[in-house]
Amino acid sequence: MKITDIFKKQKRTFSFEFFPPSDYLTAVKFGINAGQLMKLSPSFVSITYGAGGCTQTNTFDLVDLFHNDLGFTCMAHYTCVNATKEKIAYDMRVLQDMGVENVMLLRGDKPKNEPLKFPNPDGFNYASDLVKFVNENYNFCIGGGAYPEKHTEAPSYEKDIENLKVKVDAGVEFLITQMFFCNNYYWNFVNKVEQKGIKCRIIPGIIPITNFKQIKKFADLTGAQFPEKLLKKIEPYQDRPKEVYKIGLDWAVKQVSDLLENDAPGIHFYTLNKSMAAIKLYESLSEDFKDVKTLYEKSFKPHIPRPL
Ligand code: FAD
Repeated sequence: MKITDIFKKQKRTFSFEFFPPSDYLTAVKFGINAGQLMKLSPSFVSITYGAGGCTQTNTFDLVDLFHNDLGFTCMAHYTCVNATKEKIAYDMRVLQDMGVENVMLLRGDKPKNEPLKFPNPDGFNYASDLVKFVNENYNFCIGGGAYPEKHTEAPSYEKDIENLKVKVDAGVEFLITQMFFCNNYYWNFVNKVEQKGIKCRIIPGIIPITNFKQIKKFADLTGAQFPEKLLKKIEPYQDRPKEVYKIGLDWAVKQVSDLLENDAPGIHFYTLNKSMAAIKLYESLSEDFKDVKTLYEKSFKPHIPRPL
């Protein structure tokens, strides 16, 4: 099912992001954690592609598993950085033949182990170029990335939003944000983006802080700011995992409640392939989400999965 068809039935969506595990032990852990999360009937799941230096090669296998074996609506992330147009066309055909209907199209971060091809003579330089190509040649529902605190490379907030408009006009049907820890960034961004005439859903991407040092590293890379109040609470406990988990979860619960109370169009959880914080968060909000869950279960029969 296309995610935009889910939007027609669901005012708010509730989705999980996973990344492909890198070895057999993490794959076992992944299976256990994902299994717990899938019991919550998410509106859709998404699988990253080479994010944070992770492997690109297992993304399609995992997408195939979620889509064809488990019967969930699944979105494959895909990046164009350093890729040739020929490879992109091939990969899109693979996804299409797999029956996948949703793709999150991104530029991708600059590669660590090879020189960046910029401008890329055989490929694309920006996500908007990739979106245009895929939109013109395939029949996917297309999602894109958005940055409430500005993309780190953009010369200004305004320019970043202008570039976002180009991407949406090229065929992006909904946006998912980079993680943020202060909802004001999200609401200001949504206002600015609407003023520019961007009308699609902007789903907030939320990460519960379960490991301060790890999340701080991600935040520094993506330019996400920690509010002073959060830092004061969490920094003194940064070497005490249980305390960090409690404070991080509490913060995320408040963030998510505020977003939903103010009519954000759902929540996209960056699960980091762990289940406990996302489940606790979900449970704390179950009444808020009840309408969505019931609606989802009643309205859709996911396509019949392949027999296991
Ligand atoms: P773009 O939209 O191309 O923007 C990149 C920069 O270029 C911005 O500064 C923008 O302002 C600027 N720009 C855009 N168009 C133009 C133009 N025409 N001229 C000049 N400047 C321009 N990375 C992965 O590797 N794998 C993943 O699975 C993954 N998943 C993600 C999921 C989400 C929800 C988000 C928000 C990010 C994800 N990322 C992932 C990270 C993403 O690849 C990086 O943030 C990357 O640096 C930018 O990708 P983009 O698609 O937003 O790029």
